[in-house]
Amino acid sequence: MTTIKIKDLEIFANHGVLKEENALGQKFVVSIELDVYTRASDRLDETINYAEVCAFAEQFMRDNTFALIETAAAVLAREIMARFDGALSVRTEIKKPWAPIRMNVAYVSAATEQRRHRAYIALGSNLGDRQRNLDEALKRIEDDKFCRVANVSDFIETKPVGYENQGDFLNGCAEIETLYAPFELLEFLNRCENEGGRTREIHWGPRTIDLDIIYYDDLTLDTETLTIPHKEM
Ligand code: AMP
Repeated sequence: MTTIKIKDLEIFANHGVLKEENALGQKFVVSIELDVYTRASDRLDETINYAEVCAFAEQFMRDNTFALIETAAAVLAREIMARFDGALSVRTEIKKPWAPIRMNVAYVSAATEQRRHRAYIALGSNLGDRQRNLDEALKRIEDDKFCRVANVSDFIETKPVGYENQGDFLNGCAEIETLYAPFELLEFLNRCENEGGRTREIHWGPRTIDLDIIYYDDLTLDTETLTIPHKEM
């Protein structure tokens, strides 16, 4: 692996909690590290062009206004990952040398790291055109800039469990790469379900589309709204 490092790119922008900071702006100093596969090809079009990364970061910092530099650093890292798909992981640090705290510091900064995560999503439908519902859900996932569908299983028919007075399900599983954190991925999948016209009156009842997170990297999590690996595994 090779790391491309961009150190202390100066950008005038308007981030900050205070409205004066948003109105007047100040200097931010941005450092970016991108991990890429090592190649011996010596071709610019086979790596990540750091001039493009600098231009992208400058535009991003100017076009957005964040209250917090940690949010700016995290969102910037993710946007870089989405834009430059050769990046295996990205680290960003945003320094604020003129932070308005009435004290002398060299700078305050926030640093973050973003990498691609591997998740497995279960898809199910037993209402309407089931095949089309699953295909459309996969397309919604693929079309999102923070997700990529890596593999899709065959679709199989399964009998309903819990509430049996309903049609058979068509089920499948997709392996995806994602830049979403677990709860963000859940929210995103809920949006996909809603866009897919999901209706469900009865718990365990018939549904146009059901999207569940089965695995997310090697994470184990048990909260009120999200359990990973999924409870039914
Ligand atoms: P269902 O639509 O019947 O699969 O249930 C959806 C609810 O289960 C959502 O409100 C989620 O908050 C919750 N849930 C818990 N763990 C997961 C998971 N791994 N994937 C998707 N939904 C989950």
